[in-house]
Amino acid sequence: MSVGTLTKKVLQAALFYEIWDAMKVTFKHMFHKPITFQYPREQRAIPDAHRGALGLLRYDDGRERCVGCDLCEAACPSRCIKVISSEDSERPLQRYASEFYIDITKCVFCGYCVEACPVNALAMTKVYEFSTHDKRTLMFDKKRLYDIGERHLDDAKKYLYAHNQEKNVEESREYRYYFPQSVAKPTQSTPKHLS
Ligand code: SF4
Ligand code: SF4
Repeated sequence: MSVGTLTKKVLQAALFYEIWDAMKVTFKHMFHKPITFQYPREQRAIPDAHRGALGLLRYDDGRERCVGCDLCEAACPSRCIKVISSEDSERPLQRYASEFYIDITKCVFCGYCVEACPVNALAMTKVYEFSTHDKRTLMFDKKRLYDIGERHLDDAKKYLYAHNQEKNVEESREYRYYFPQSVAKPTQSTPKHLS
């Protein structure tokens, strides 16, 4: 070890250089605005595309949108949807879901059921606070799903717009998801033998 390096090391040890170096990070963060949210007193703004609790929707005249086709049940990778469909006695050839269950304990919030629905009867909402001590209350039945849909109709519609499912109009398209440029760009150059 040269004399210069030795002197530098002795000086650093005498002046507690490592401690001051580490404190630099502490001092830097002392002047940053904290980003911690004091949940549940403070809550974050949830984006429209958020995948929260599922709800069933009605048409504006109050009719149930769901026609009991079972496509959502078939699309669900967690097998947590059960639809029992029946014929509508008042409207020949029309069917509806007489019973509808979603076991939220198994749901992975993938949104496939919403995408599979041909009539946009299902949508996701911004509801995420449904923790409970009684797991049985997390088997959402038809009534509860319609209740969620009615109480959070605006959010449900925004979800459908955000996922381009409600209308093919500008309002809907502006929510379209684009893959981030930084990720979309190739991360490696093409090997010479392939170019
Ligand atoms: S969000 Fe996914 S896991 Fe949940 S019910 Fe729909 S399809 Fe099934
Ligand atoms: S919610 Fe949609 S996909 Fe599921 S049964 Fe009803 S109409 Fe069919």
